[in-house]
Amino acid sequence: MAETRIVVIGAGVAGLTTALLLSRNKNYKITVAAKHMPGDYDIEYASPWAGANYLPVAVPGTDLEKWEADTWPELEKLATLHPEAGIHFQAATLYNRTKDFEDGKATALAASTVSDPWYKAIVPNFGKIPKDQLPAGYDNGNTFTSVCINTAIYLPWLLSRCLESGVIFKRAVFDHISEASRVHHSGEKADVIINCTGLSAGKLGGVEDRNMVPARGQIVLVRNEGDGVMHATSGTDFSKEDFCYTMTRAAGGGTILGGCYQIGSWDSQPDPNLAIRIMRRAVDICPALTDGKGIEHLSIIRHGVGLRPLRIGGTRVEKERIDTMLVIHNYGHGGYGYQSSYGCSQAVVKLLEEVLSVRAKL
Ligand code: FAD
Repeated sequence: MAETRIVVIGAGVAGLTTALLLSRNKNYKITVAAKHMPGDYDIEYASPWAGANYLPVAVPGTDLEKWEADTWPELEKLATLHPEAGIHFQAATLYNRTKDFEDGKATALAASTVSDPWYKAIVPNFGKIPKDQLPAGYDNGNTFTSVCINTAIYLPWLLSRCLESGVIFKRAVFDHISEASRVHHSGEKADVIINCTGLSAGKLGGVEDRNMVPARGQIVLVRNEGDGVMHATSGTDFSKEDFCYTMTRAAGGGTILGGCYQIGSWDSQPDPNLAIRIMRRAVDICPALTDGKGIEHLSIIRHGVGLRPLRIGGTRVEKERIDTMLVIHNYGHGGYGYQSSYGCSQAVVKLLEEVLSVRAKL
């Protein structure tokens, strides 16, 4: 079978996972070209800022449901067999308030906290929290075994696995997607471009997807470790944009306190008032973080802001011909880029195989 020259644009979780899965086919010669690489912290690079955990948010019957479902077994395998990937199992407790679904406008986390979610058939140890064990103000609660991903370990781990499989990495900044066809490490024109540019798909020439919007997230990373359980609530009283969640990263990665989901905000700087609200809510929901004391007993590593690459209408995994080039898109993963990463990347691999098999028959 002939070799296929592939350029993947983007080295976030989408680009790295896609490159890794593609690299299992030794006929694929892959270059990953990106402005930002693992190790960088930048407002244009969402992946390092994520918690990250597995709290499915898909509406049943959508592509996202399949992608999230297909991702769990891979994350479970990594947490079980590859401690060096920086992913560990963590019990999750999710608390739900009926009022967070009112006005026909559920909060972005609400879907994962419903009392009877579709994903209960996939994750281990799913159960309902008895009413008398719910904190005041909540209507129902669930628990299950999730994972928490230490992104500072996991992104370099993905890159290393790609290097091991022969993928070549380059820094590059493209104004137009067609420029990517000229950076393949062979020096020849690429046969396929895989577009994993996240939020920047909204301005990349040739793509300019007007459905891309930022969903700003703000976090506080602390040294405190709490009770070893990941907590999340369907909403908060302050506004529908404010969130409350905590998760402790694997391998000494600290505890992430979140957060918010501010659609349309490009602000790259932490809001100090929001940071205080985040910390107060975190010690309320998980008093063990500070042994029941106040937020002044949190030991802060850093405040952070990331822009989730939200796409109105959902993640785009599809092929397109741009000028004379074959492009396969994999962007617009909002707040679910890790928990859908393997499902989406498997879909890209399948799309490419279909195109190449049709070409081979011509
Ligand atoms: P990015 O990580 O943004 O990467 C884009 C890549 O494309 C970069 O390498 C960039 O340099 C490159 N690029 C873009 N444009 C160009 C160009 N023109 N030329 C060259 N290179 C270019 N998800 C979960 O699943 N679970 C969670 O718990 C979770 N928590 C989150 C919490 C926060 C605070 C935030 C901000 C996000 C969270 N997410 C979570 C969402 C997740 O982080 C994103 O969905 C995911 O990181 C998107 O990855 P990506 O690879 O598509 O984009």
